[in-house]
Amino acid sequence: MNRLLCFLLLLSIFQTDHYQTLRNDMVKTQLEAQGIHNPSVLNAMRKVPRHQLVPGNVRHLAYEDGPLPIGYGQTISQPYIVAFMTEAIDPKPCMKVLEIGTGSGYQAAVLGEIVAEVYTIEIVEPLGTKAQKDLEKLGYKNVHVRVGDGYKGWPEQAPFDAIIVTAAPEKVPQPLIDQLKEGGKMIIPVGSNANTQELRLLEKRKGKIRTTSLLPVRFVPFTRDTLK
Ligand code: SAH
Repeated sequence: MNRLLCFLLLLSIFQTDHYQTLRNDMVKTQLEAQGIHNPSVLNAMRKVPRHQLVPGNVRHLAYEDGPLPIGYGQTISQPYIVAFMTEAIDPKPCMKVLEIGTGSGYQAAVLGEIVAEVYTIEIVEPLGTKAQKDLEKLGYKNVHVRVGDGYKGWPEQAPFDAIIVTAAPEKVPQPLIDQLKEGGKMIIPVGSNANTQELRLLEKRKGKIRTTSLLPVRFVPFTRDTLK
């Protein structure tokens, strides 16, 4: 019995090390090599156990350079895109951030490592419920999950220092612009056709929105309540 316990303990230490090595490699080859440089983003990406947030059948691919299916026709973005979006909002420890599209909970966990509070909304109920449980298990007390239509934002917690949207609407939802703090940043993929979407950065200055186009991207569509 003691031998078995010892073996299991060693196995779990080996596995923890193994995943840490994969994460360190991911940060080096996929993120730093492609220009991600914010130390708090790189640290968070070294820390969050992506393999514990994706479905078991794709766990072995968790640290590969690509998106992964998470069920219900949805996908988790590739690590580079998660890091790029997180870096784009210039996250700081004092910030309160809203995410639309919880999915697996991975992006929310990365934010949870850096900022004070994360509010995240998922429209597909089983995904939202699972992410909430997984994030709780991993100890993210500062990540708050709600199931619902993110189009309306989270008015009770607004305004937000930053907003990250991880599904693509045809145009930026007005309630999200309204819930962005003065000086705040929103990063959002926009476009109805997956072939022509672009990632945009919006900044609110003196009540006005300044938009910059950053990258061509391919996100799942932003759906509405009625399409659930
Ligand atoms: N950020 C996620 C990626 C999820 S993919 C992660 O790290 O895993 C985008 C998610 O947005 C999907 O789960 C999809 O169901 C959700 N979504 C689409 N439209 C939405 C809406 N109107 N409100 C909230 N979530 C939405």
